Amino acid sequence: MLRLGGQSFAPGSSGTVELTVGHMIDHQPLSMTVHVHRGRRAGPCLLVSAGIHGNEICGVESLRLLLKMRLLKGLRGDLIVVPVVNMPAFMARSRYLPDRRDLNRLFPGSSKGSLGGRLASLFMEEVVGQCSHAVDMHSGAINRPNLPQIRISPGDEVAMGLALAFRVPVVIESPVREGTLRQVLFTKKIPSLLFEAGEAGRLDHASVRYGVRGLVSVMRSLSMLPKERKPDTIRRAKTVVAQETYWERAPMGGIFTPRTELGKAVASEEVLGIVADPFGRAECKVVARESGVVIGCSRDAAVDEGDALFHIALTQYPDKAERQIQRSSRVIANSLESHYTG
Ligand SMILES: [Zn+2]
Repeated sequence: MLRLGGQSFAPGSSGTVELTVGHMIDHQPLSMTVHVHRGRRAGPCLLVSAGIHGNEICGVESLRLLLKMRLLKGLRGDLIVVPVVNMPAFMARSRYLPDRRDLNRLFPGSSKGSLGGRLASLFMEEVVGQCSHAVDMHSGAINRPNLPQIRISPGDEVAMGLALAFRVPVVIESPVREGTLRQVLFTKKIPSLLFEAGEAGRLDHASVRYGVRGLVSVMRSLSMLPKERKPDTIRRAKTVVAQETYWERAPMGGIFTPRTELGKAVASEEVLGIVADPFGRAECKVVARESGVVIGCSRDAAVDEGDALFHIALTQYPDKAERQIQRSSRVIANSLESHYTG
């Protein structure tokens, strides 16, 4: 039996649980909605979550589409889906909790702590405690979209296998940060992926599709779903793996004009964009200090000195990486419909 929020789920059953966190300012109950799908046959227990940051909607939409897919009927093992972990932030269309804290710095939380601490603690105890593998879905900041990418903890070989199975353009092995869900999963030795795609406050359909397709593909690789009958075209698209990334920031405040975009290769010393004083007195180039590929970039027209403009992943052969990224984007663009119809 799988027990969640006082409900029991036998193999082959599915349902929705409302976990009660507490009450909001208007005395409305604050709950976390959890979908449970149990296969008839035993297998891994995969947790898929989104909405830890309340304004990152692409992942929420990916999970909505995933839950509609008919192929889940053939599931082996258990799938636990939490489309919106941070409901107060989702309602406010904000990254942050009402007290301006970031839920993804409060893990593992405390049942006697702040609202975020209680949310984190409930999520850990009721949900994370059940799972053997996890995928957490995120997007870039407002006006700062991310190329679809997976972040994993360095040295986590199981996670690397799953990341490659997800078939995103870029996988980054990045150090874990204190208080993040990823750090807690890493210490609990639960292999986990953090999927990043698109930007906060917007639905980007390619990012949504990457998310759904990647999750199905991860479940296939865990033998939770049958192998594909016809080979998937996206398999031809290779993934770029990077161990290091850096940000190129605005050298001064002003009007920002980018000269490159997501997925593009950049050479060391290449001009990535221009920041100009609106009165025409000064103009400053944003120059890449090392070569790599652009995995995140700002779309703000006006920037302050020090604003993050370009996120660049260091890769050995940036031009080859750019071609791989283009190929994987083309493949996903050519395989539109199936996710929307299940
Ligand atoms: Zn996020």
